[in-house]
This record gives sequence, C-alpha cells and structure tokens, in this order.
Amino acid sequence: MNRELTNISYIKDLCNRYGFALQKNFGQNFIVNSGICPKIAEYAEVDENCGVIEIGTGIGVLTKELALRAKKVVAIEIDTKLLPLLGETLSDFDNIKIINQDVLKVDLAQLIKEEFGDMPVKVCANLPYYITSPIIMKLLEDRLPIENITVMVQKEAAQRICAKEKSRDAGAISLAVNYYAQPTVCFNVSPGSFFPPPKVTSSVIRLDIAKDAKVTPKNEKNMFKLIRAAFTQRRKTFVNSVSATLGMSKSDIENALEQIGENKLIRPEQLSLRQFSDLSDILFG
Ligand code: SAM
Repeated sequence: MNRELTNISYIKDLCNRYGFALQKNFGQNFIVNSGICPKIAEYAEVDENCGVIEIGTGIGVLTKELALRAKKVVAIEIDTKLLPLLGETLSDFDNIKIINQDVLKVDLAQLIKEEFGDMPVKVCANLPYYITSPIIMKLLEDRLPIENITVMVQKEAAQRICAKEKSRDAGAISLAVNYYAQPTVCFNVSPGSFFPPPKVTSSVIRLDIAKDAKVTPKNEKNMFKLIRAAFTQRRKTFVNSVSATLGMSKSDIENALEQIGENKLIRPEQLSLRQFSDLSDILFG
C-alpha cells in the first residue's frame, strides 16, 4: 500500500489497526491533498535553522513536512489516542517532539525557551476550527518571540481575521490581529483536500508579528475592553453599544467621538485601530 500520509486508504488502515475513531469535537479534518503541506511550509518560510511549533498533529502529515525542512518541530496534540499512530507515521524523525496537551493550557513562552533556545520560531497549523480565535489570540497576546503564524482556518474566519480597518468585515478580532501583526490571506483550500471533507472552504493565512507598536494606547487593556464592548452589539452604533456594555454615559462617548473628529452615529467597524486607541485614552482618562 502507498503509505503516504495523504493516501485515504492508508489513513483508514492506520485508524483500523490502532482502533482510532476520528473525533468531530476535536475538529479532526486531516489534509489529504499532497500539495497543501509544502505550500504551508513555504509560506511560513520554514528552513533548516528554525524551530516550528505545530498545533494539532492529526496523523502527522504537516508535522512530517515541517520536520523535513526545520531544525526542530514541537507539536502539541490534545488527543491521546493519536499518539500510537504518530509513533508509526513519524518514526523516521529525530527532530520532532510531541506534547500531549490542550494548546490553550500550554505555557508557550516557557516551551519556546526550553525547546528552541535562540532559534527563530514559527507557528504552523491546520487549526481545529472550533477554537481558531482563542488559539490565535493566545499566540498574539502572550507576546511570544515568534516570527510568524501560518495557519489554515475556515475561509470566513480568514476574512474576519484579516479584514482591513474600516471595512465591512472589521471586528474585534481583526483589530486585535492588526495591533500585534500584519495579516495576509495566502491561498484557499477546497473541502475535498481534507478527510473527512468539512462543509466549507478553508484559507491559509499568515500573521507576521509586528516588531514595532502600530499604536500606543496609554493602557492596552482598556483599549481592548473598548474594542470588545464596541463590537458586542454589532448592529448598534458605537455610542449605543459602548454605553450599554460598559455603562458609560452617551454624552461622554459622543464628546470623545467629537474630540477625534467623528460623528456620533458612527458604527464600530468604521473606526480605525488608532481611533480606538485615542478613544480609550479619552474615555478611560
Ligand atoms: N495537522 C493535521 C492535518 O492537517 O491533517 C490535523 C489537523 S486537524 C484540523 C486539528 C488537530 O488539532 C486534530 O488532530 C485535533 O485532535 C487537534 N486539536 C484539537 N483541539 C486541540 C487543542 N485544544 N490542543 C491541541 N490540539 C488540538
């Protein structure tokens, strides 16, 4: 049998032999299009000097591609039942370490220090779609010493995450991403490239971590509090949403908008990151 990790017959054979059943609630859709993993590694600019953190190994198809190119790969996988399979599929590699944990509970800063030392580090993944945003926010908010994050997400999520400022799709996540990184949509991937196929199209996105701050609010936490409040009730105006969520007086919010030269009927998606920064400085004093 063709033992390529993109061969569906081999995947089924592996699952049978190890008594492994795919877990829908872990977002297990494995890549079976052989062109995709090399493309992800290339967009991430993985080379022999760098370390890579992979989130969610599945049966190891992307892990293997990354290990062929990188100095070291540390892969975090929540599903204990995949470990025996990975013992077989990744047996040829001595530069892969698997950590059997929930990525949201891993101290990634510590992991990077211990596992990668001075190596430049990148994050690559075909993300479990049910926790795309929490994972991306954790990677960004922890201010990890990483160069880029190159991940597969649902196409709709990609549009929201990479939305330009003041565009229709702009939201709390795109503003946060824009604060920490420069986002790019790299390419789309059709459902047939996965086993089992998901219902929707996917996209690979790359977030290049910003070296310098794009805006400098007096208090970062307050800026994000304001952003979250503004988008809690998306169809409302900025004034109504912020006053309902944070209990601020409408006239204070209208005054703040006037100070930055905006009108009181503006909607949250029409404000830029810089304007949110300025508004949070004014509103939180
Ligand atoms: N990289 C493989 C591929 O592309 O074929 C698998 C990708 S699959 C979409 C997502 C993987 O993430 C699954 O193996 C799943 O078990 C794992 N996963 C789900 N939730 C996780 C979590 N909280 N922490 C770590 N891994 C997780």
